[in-house]
Amino acid sequence: MHPNDPALKSFLDVAEQSDFPIQNLPFGIFSTASQPQARTGVAIGDWVLDLSVLESRGLIKPAAHAVFGDATLNTFISLGRQVWRETREAISQLLRHDNPVLRDDSVLRSQALIAQSEVQMHLPIKVGGYTDFYSSKEHATNVGSMFRDPANALLPNWLHLPVGYNGRASSVIVSGVDVHRPMGQVKPPSAEQPLFAACAKLDFELETAFIVGADTVLGEAVTVSDAESLMFGMVLLNDWSARDIQQWEYVPLGPFNAKTFATSISPWIVTMEALEPFRVQGPVQEPKPLPYLQQSGAHSFDISLEVDLQPESAKKPTTICKTNYRAMYWSMAQQLAHHTVSGCNVGVGDVMASGTISGSTPDSYGSLLELSWNGQRPLTLDDGTTQRSFLENGDRVTMRGWCQGAGYRIGFGEVSARVLPALSGRR
Ligand code: CA
Repeated sequence: MHPNDPALKSFLDVAEQSDFPIQNLPFGIFSTASQPQARTGVAIGDWVLDLSVLESRGLIKPAAHAVFGDATLNTFISLGRQVWRETREAISQLLRHDNPVLRDDSVLRSQALIAQSEVQMHLPIKVGGYTDFYSSKEHATNVGSMFRDPANALLPNWLHLPVGYNGRASSVIVSGVDVHRPMGQVKPPSAEQPLFAACAKLDFELETAFIVGADTVLGEAVTVSDAESLMFGMVLLNDWSARDIQQWEYVPLGPFNAKTFATSISPWIVTMEALEPFRVQGPVQEPKPLPYLQQSGAHSFDISLEVDLQPESAKKPTTICKTNYRAMYWSMAQQLAHHTVSGCNVGVGDVMASGTISGSTPDSYGSLLELSWNGQRPLTLDDGTTQRSFLENGDRVTMRGWCQGAGYRIGFGEVSARVLPALSGRR
């Protein structure tokens, strides 16, 4: 049976609503209190399967040397697509209900299976480069309408190329690491001169990202048809954004301090292979892009996405956005082809973010900027009284994503972090 077969069952109990059935098997880096060295695991139901244990027993062997004791996935990823597939297949075999090797070895099980509640997750890759695209037509239209002209919301290049910018790799952090409100230079419309202040318009951006799975050669472009074979998998991404800093600084070279203070990703990398059954056609592209960006077939993915906001004092979170990845105008393959068309090389572990994912209805917008229409229409949370235009200190933002199959889901888990007060004393 193929590892994606919906009929596959594990000997471990996995709830129907779990993000991590045997058909998923996402890779991550974790540690435990009793064994603080970070190592590779795969999520299965409520458990983490410790691949370093299976590797040391010779049950999986992706390379001649050990790779799953590493503190990042980069070495494993660099072994290439065939090895990713074979390893996933071997893990799937070991977890099947009818395979006794792990199922009936209680000592091995006690060593290799750890409750997710007992692990600490780490950044799964060493990030060499981080690029952020801007590929949702709905998001670009909303932002263009707000800040420029509703009649000409999209700039002239937008329908011809996947707009993007090079972000900051050093501040890509894993879910669970809280984020301080940034300090920076702002110029309120009423002020004559710019001020140095804590950001007053702190926002999230709901995004996904793909993780590059190969090193490419400087000077050589990746074709749009080869691009998907260079992707290892996907994560959820929160592109924290300081809107007031952004508005003052972004002309003419784009965002800088407004984005570089933190970018959070979910800890489990869902492989492109696990996502394969959820491939769908993206929107029709009109005008037709230039030949190096042309694709036919299904190159988007049906990924449901949600954002929860929970103020510090609130007992429960409020779901403030429900949307789907599938409507993204530019595909990931087009993004990678465009990124490299000038000869720019990319490398294993590079993070390529989608851009804010907004749908066409007001409850499907992927940022507070859009949800509150730049503060003109504050959101009311589920308690009926608390309002939000932008994030307050203590707010927790949690993003979730999953592909819904028949009786199972390929989930991403979550990317979640709290807003902490500005550290003005350090600056
Ligand atoms: Ca963004």
